[in-house]
Amino acid sequence: MVWRAGSLLGLATALALAAGSLAGAQQKTEVRVGVLAYLGPDEAASAWEPTLAQLNAALPAYRFTMVAGSQAFLTAAVAAHRLDFLITNPGHFLELKVDYSASALATEQDLDGFSSSESVGAAIVVLDRRAELQHPADLRGLKIAAAAPDAFGFRAAFGELLERGLDPLKDVNPVFTGFPVDGVLTMVRAGQADAGVIRSCLLEKVIAEGRAGAQEFRVLGRKTGNGAKCQVSTRLYPGWAFVKVAQTPKPLADEVARVLLAMQPGAGEKVWNQPDDYLSVQDLYRSLHVGPYAPFTRLGIADLLWRYRYLAAVVGMAALWWVAYVIRVAQLVRRRTRELAEAYELARLKDVKFEHAMRLSLMGEMASSLAHEINQPLAAILTYARGCERRLEHGADPQGLREAIGRIAIQAERAGDIVRRMRDFVQKNPARQAPMEPAAVFREALALFAPTAASRDLAVEADIPEELPLVRADRVQLEEVILNLLQNALEAIGERADGKIRFAATQEGATIVAAVSDNGPGLTQEARNRLFEAFFTSKSGGLGLGLSLSRSIVEAHGGRLGADEQASPGATFRFYLPIIEEDVRV
Ligand code: ADP
Repeated sequence: MVWRAGSLLGLATALALAAGSLAGAQQKTEVRVGVLAYLGPDEAASAWEPTLAQLNAALPAYRFTMVAGSQAFLTAAVAAHRLDFLITNPGHFLELKVDYSASALATEQDLDGFSSSESVGAAIVVLDRRAELQHPADLRGLKIAAAAPDAFGFRAAFGELLERGLDPLKDVNPVFTGFPVDGVLTMVRAGQADAGVIRSCLLEKVIAEGRAGAQEFRVLGRKTGNGAKCQVSTRLYPGWAFVKVAQTPKPLADEVARVLLAMQPGAGEKVWNQPDDYLSVQDLYRSLHVGPYAPFTRLGIADLLWRYRYLAAVVGMAALWWVAYVIRVAQLVRRRTRELAEAYELARLKDVKFEHAMRLSLMGEMASSLAHEINQPLAAILTYARGCERRLEHGADPQGLREAIGRIAIQAERAGDIVRRMRDFVQKNPARQAPMEPAAVFREALALFAPTAASRDLAVEADIPEELPLVRADRVQLEEVILNLLQNALEAIGERADGKIRFAATQEGATIVAAVSDNGPGLTQEARNRLFEAFFTSKSGGLGLGLSLSRSIVEAHGGRLGADEQASPGATFRFYLPIIEEDVRV
């Protein structure tokens, strides 16, 4: 804008003049007074020159010079400590008060206007012929012209609209003409805007100067009863402020305030009164969220962070704590997972060792009877071998010898079979499940147990079909389960003369059921409750592992193992294995 450049020039000239005079004889201290010049520097000079002249006259030690400029220019000058005082409108003063600790020394009163605390307002004007526009609320959705978004009159008018339920940002369309304010009236007159916002008393002034017809414009929502000489649409706010900034020396400020309040104004000049508290302006700006109450638009991130530094610190600490917490939880989860995996591996190894121990224990119990069984073929071999010897001594024929040697070979194979079965069983074979025909496995297990039973004058009664559907199983483990159940049955019978053990296998639907029954004393209540607990035993030399391991073996085969609830006399243990579809045998 032209006048703004002009004001800069003005400032430069004033500064140059000031510097020149300082170099001269008069040793006056220069005091720079910023003046808000929204109508241009000339208008500002004519309005405020009398005030500066009186200050210069009353305080000869100082030389008061005027620096006219826009609101933004003056704010920048305050920030750069280039000004000692300012004369500015209430809104600008409020911003300086909040941002730069400025304070008001006096409040202006227009002698033509009202009191100093009710000095400035705004008029919302429409063309008189627009009969449909009677109240400010009628402006909903219409165009409103104003000089600038930060013009105090515009803000006052918008505060008024807000109070009447119109949201200035959504419900009306503002258009800005720039200064001077007369442009607003021009726009309304041309129909480019439906209404215009102007400073109070401007309309009267324009009419008095003949620049507008007396009946041309009408003021909307006119406030009465405030003794106003001019028509206003808004409440009235305090007049302009004479402001001192934070670094202005206090003695100088005190002297200036004294002179201002004692000033005797000439006709048409301003008068200065005690400073107003400007609370009404503060309320207005707060309700409009503008000026110092619009931090997100006015302040940078750094300012914002500084302003809310305590909150930011708390939020930052909370975020840090949260990140630390998440890292810690992740660490704990990783550690626990590792520990679990280790514990699981340990348990698995323990199970493998226990299973091996059970096999050894079973073998231990079966060893003497197995030795007895091996003894039989060995004795037979010995007999045949001696016979061969005798025959050779007596010149026997080779045909007779061949038959005897053949028998020796058969007996040796039998003994070898027994040893192989023992070795297979005792060796810690890793579990290898494969499809197999269960009847054969059952018979093999019974054959393994037969010598043990025979040593006690018992024969296991077996009821096994010729062939059963396939199951997926580990042969050795399955034999182990059966041997364990048979051994338990044998131990339950003890020394009874009429002891009987029965093994029965059958197909029931999609499962193979195998049952081992005895006619021993049966299960005690305690044994029934704790049967499958590891280390539960009622026997003096028992390990208490047989049933718990047998159950985990059967479950690893997808089956289940349990004791019949009612089995009298004696006990019946039964296990189930699922049948598979494949017809692949090993
Ligand atoms: P152990 O044979 O080493 O004691 P088991 O786990 O095989 O370990 O058996 C646990 C307990 O269950 C036995 O001590 C016994 O009290 C009871 N039990 C198992 N089988 C029978 C049975 N056929 N008759 C009566 N009690 C039994």
